[in-house]
Amino acid sequence: MRILVVEDDALLGDAIQAGLKQSGYAVDWLRDGLAADQALSTEPYAAVVLDWGLPRLSGLEVLQRLRDRKADIPVILLTARDTVHDRIQGLDSGADDYLIKPFDMGELAARLRALVRRASGNATPSLKAGEVELDPAGHQVTYLGKPVELSAREFAVLHALMLNTGKVLSRAQLEEKLYAWGDEIESNAVEVHIHHLRRKLSPTLIETIRGVGYLIR
Ligand code: CA
Repeated sequence: MRILVVEDDALLGDAIQAGLKQSGYAVDWLRDGLAADQALSTEPYAAVVLDWGLPRLSGLEVLQRLRDRKADIPVILLTARDTVHDRIQGLDSGADDYLIKPFDMGELAARLRALVRRASGNATPSLKAGEVELDPAGHQVTYLGKPVELSAREFAVLHALMLNTGKVLSRAQLEEKLYAWGDEIESNAVEVHIHHLRRKLSPTLIETIRGVGYLIR
């Protein structure tokens, strides 16, 4: 799951990136609003953590441009402001959630999980497909009721497919969700993760649609 973090404070940006990586996300970190606006026009992020006060284009303007493009990607707005008026303005501009600095990394990760889940139309915390159950919060997968050990990227592949049941995801789409800029992508990485998932879970859970991609029904 790929997240965009936009924060001009180097220490805070670094902490958010490290914290979210630890939670299993692929994280791109940008430090100004204009770069964020451009990245959001082209890259398929699952969610954005957006600082309000940014150089070149404020977080609020980035958000307004995003919503003007009818993009419904979930956004958490970060700000040092905490007046009711600011909060209303932020939410009115299309933010899905709001965190006031300083905040706890665990809380940011928890709110992100909730937003991504709601955006995919799943109100319940865990995802189910056949006998496989995935709990995004606890980062746990069970098959036939028993816990299964998955690597962070295997988990991410399974999570992406389970959030999109009934839809075919191409290898490129999965790679875009799994890797941040600068991450090294091995050419057959997705195939290898799928192979491991089939071995660890049910061999029939993930279908290969030849020439198109992968699918969980
Ligand atoms: Ca700032």
